[in-house]
Amino acid sequence: MTFIILLLQLPAPAQQKAENIIIVTTDGLRWQEVFGGMDSSLADNPRFNQGERDLLYKKYGAATAMERRKKLFPFIWQAFASQGQLYGNRAYGNRVNTANPYWFSYPGYNEIFTGFPDTAINTNAYRDNPHVTVLEYLHQLPEFKGRIAAFGSWEAYTRILNKKRAGFPVMASFDSISWEGATEKEQLINALKQESFRAQENEGCMDVFTHFQAMEYMKIRKPKVLYIAYLETDEWAHAGNYKYYLQSAAKVDAWLKDIWNYIQSDPFYKDKTALLITTDHGRGDKVKEKWTSHGGVEGADQVWIGVMGPGIPARGEVKTGMQLYQKQIAQTIALLLNRKYTATHPVADAISQITEP
Ligand SMILES: [Zn+2]
Repeated sequence: MTFIILLLQLPAPAQQKAENIIIVTTDGLRWQEVFGGMDSSLADNPRFNQGERDLLYKKYGAATAMERRKKLFPFIWQAFASQGQLYGNRAYGNRVNTANPYWFSYPGYNEIFTGFPDTAINTNAYRDNPHVTVLEYLHQLPEFKGRIAAFGSWEAYTRILNKKRAGFPVMASFDSISWEGATEKEQLINALKQESFRAQENEGCMDVFTHFQAMEYMKIRKPKVLYIAYLETDEWAHAGNYKYYLQSAAKVDAWLKDIWNYIQSDPFYKDKTALLITTDHGRGDKVKEKWTSHGGVEGADQVWIGVMGPGIPARGEVKTGMQLYQKQIAQTIALLLNRKYTATHPVADAISQITEP
């Protein structure tokens, strides 16, 4: 009898906690599209639809927000909605905001990875991040040493993640492979990237290279913490091109599916890996024409978060009223790995309800 009771009291099996995490951001993707799909007022506007209103309606149009969002983000609304959690649908009073007052990229990514909305970080040209990010913190722990990498389309990740000091590979924009023994495929992707179209000199590469470089790295080197940062959603929004903005957003959804399918097909990652998605800032909705910008645009501090994986109960779209902040993501990343992130700067608390049964 005692024996049976002891068995019943055994802790939950190990696969109930994530051992690895993949963090994905797509720059400046609004919660309005994540939860509502295509915005018809932008799709109808000749300034933004590139004369392809009918095509946009055919691809992404539907009568209700729930149908539209499924057409734009089929993977998110299939997988995260049934196995994970999605925060930020303000239609239900479920709010996620940046805590930083700037609503543009460097302050946003700094907030995501340090849990500290430092008001001194007030420009995208800011120097190497003086703060130790959660990625750099984890990398100092023996079990994560040499098992962390970051791939981002924008050049600023070099500074945001402090590539010089971080100690793990940070491939930003047109950076070349810096590790030994790069595979033929890694070298080919790198060569294609170097030769590819440069819309803005070295400021950003196309997301397709970031994605394939990150995927190849994951397959060959099995990082325990991998960060993938897509950029094109923001680029096309600034260009006022709603067609390509939606196309980039749909592509990110397809790539999330690639990432998740790979995770669940590989014994190293399967049932041991969490996936977290978010964005650095919103772009507002109050004045429709202002969606092309964000810093200082009312509502551009409104963001969203999706998570799924072991140790994360399936709650789907969270419809209870609450106020979360972007600064909580850093400690949440540590929490999902069952660690505690400490730093010399203040670190906001994790979103602890994510892992609560
Ligand atoms: Zn931007």
